[in-house]
Amino acid sequence: MQQRLGYYSLEMLYHTGSREVEFRCFRCKWRRVAKIENLMGKYGPAMELYDLARRATCTKCGRDSCWVQVVPPPAPGEPGHEEYMRHAVKRYEDWLGYARRFR
Ligand SMILES: [Zn+2]
Repeated sequence: MQQRLGYYSLEMLYHTGSREVEFRCFRCKWRRVAKIENLMGKYGPAMELYDLARRATCTKCGRDSCWVQVVPPPAPGEPGHEEYMRHAVKRYEDWLGYARRFR
């Protein structure tokens, strides 16, 4: 039985192909992009976006909590797109292998 991951946990986001998260300050609009791998190293894989947003402090103006969203995967032609696609194809193939059992 596969372990259930929190839907918005860093581990689940990474597993479904996301690699970066964007933080944005509600007051000064300051923006920072962080790698999900680094965030997992710092806060653990079970950390959810909601808690990241709650804990974040703007390093520019000092406001507590901020907007957090997942950076979309690289588009065709952008760096990292091929790696993203290889990962996505592998994930869908695994899923199809599992789904065939229900025929
Ligand atoms: Zn700010």
